[in-house]
Amino acid sequence: MTAHAVLNPATGQTVVEIDLVGVEETDAAIARAHAAGPDWRAVAPADRARLLRRFADAVDADLENLARLEVANAGHTIGNARWEAGNVRDVLHYYSAAPERLFGRQIPVPGGVNVTFAEPLGVVGVIVPWNFPLPIAGWGLAPALATGNTVVLKPSELTPLTALRLVELAREAGIPEDVFQVLPGTGPVVGERFVTHPLVRKVVFTGSTEVGKRIMAGCADQVKRVTLELGGNNANLVFADADLAKAAAQAPYAVFDNAGQDCCARSRILVERSAYDEFMGLFERAVAGVVVGDPGAEDTGMGPLISAAHRDRVAGYVADAPVAFRGAAPSGPGFWFPPTVLAPITPDHRAVTDEVFGPVVAVLPFDDEADAVRLANDTEYGLSGSIWTRDVGRALRVARGVEAGNLSVNSHSSVRYWTPFGGFKQSGLGRELGPDAVAGFTETKNVFIDTRE
Ligand code: NAD
Repeated sequence: MTAHAVLNPATGQTVVEIDLVGVEETDAAIARAHAAGPDWRAVAPADRARLLRRFADAVDADLENLARLEVANAGHTIGNARWEAGNVRDVLHYYSAAPERLFGRQIPVPGGVNVTFAEPLGVVGVIVPWNFPLPIAGWGLAPALATGNTVVLKPSELTPLTALRLVELAREAGIPEDVFQVLPGTGPVVGERFVTHPLVRKVVFTGSTEVGKRIMAGCADQVKRVTLELGGNNANLVFADADLAKAAAQAPYAVFDNAGQDCCARSRILVERSAYDEFMGLFERAVAGVVVGDPGAEDTGMGPLISAAHRDRVAGYVADAPVAFRGAAPSGPGFWFPPTVLAPITPDHRAVTDEVFGPVVAVLPFDDEADAVRLANDTEYGLSGSIWTRDVGRALRVARGVEAGNLSVNSHSSVRYWTPFGGFKQSGLGRELGPDAVAGFTETKNVFIDTRE
């Protein structure tokens, strides 16, 4: 164990010191999770469903506390943090329906019975990034537990506090101790061990594309199951026939929410050339209205970045980029960066081609529908995006043309927990959420029983 200071990004001060676990503790936790598997999968479906509902209720009862912890540890605004804690509750409720619906299949065959079972995988290792510690933990652990797996979860060392609270709530709800464990530790120690340990049967990873590639390569060695939710560089496409006032008013929150530290941030706004000037005027006013400051205050729209190192990285993208206009940010302690709009900028500038992961947006004009789709797809990523138009046919044509897993029309909605979520291209592999996620946590087993005499 090593001592580690958990910081408040709004102040730069230590919130609490925790112990980070090492390889030995990780191996012991994996062994306990493995040993707990047979009893957990033998729990009657109705009882497993009840335990998950109780866990959801415990999260609900603790919602304000979880949200305040996230404000202090991740710098999320209190409004967002409440939504995030509520999302964990809702996802647990949603997957509590799964244990009673894992029917398997029976196929009639001559001379016997042919049954296909959906079997749990075993121990699932969930690796969570710092940008959405609560929801991303929930998206991994809820379907994994519902389908009879046991879970070891590693939060980011920067933001472990809500995961450590979640595991207490799971205990209160009656989830057995070894069925769901949280291991605060670093990626190269605990995360890598999930990849190399033979008893971890699946790794659910959310984080950077760079680390995701490494994890995929490591998992290949054991043909280990893996789900990857990686980076994004998402386009917000605004056509001239759109409700421009609405598109401009909502655009700041599509990219500055969570200070832009969102894999679904619409960090490239592509505007039809004929509407460009009008849009920019409206957008400038909207950006000026973003309240940046104390994330615990009810009217704050944007908080700090996660760390000094990350703030410096974001600043590095802007250093040589043309700033059209920007909002205000507090000075003094804490890791602040103002909402920043880049224009005019060429599509090959690295602030456009890279995932900046900060409150920075590039605005580029396009000429027609084909040009819009071409620019939107001019990235190695493919996670999310928005399309603003009043023409339904165009909305669907463009949505079909954009290579991304989650799109919204006349809205910036990204995560709808009852539908699949995940990326095209280098934004990921596999899907979380929705009914499809269940299949990702089970192995299909077929058994033929010969009934002939
Ligand atoms: P990161 O890749 O640095 O870390 C993510 C997690 O992996 C952390 O828990 C970290 O400790 C762990 N890790 C680091 N190195 C590891 C290794 N060698 N082996 C195993 N685990 C390791 O990412 P981050 O900076 O924490 O998060 C930001 C990134 O996450 C962004 O790129 C963002 O787009 C992405 N993200 C994607 C989604 C999505 O759903 N697609 C959601 C949120 C964040």
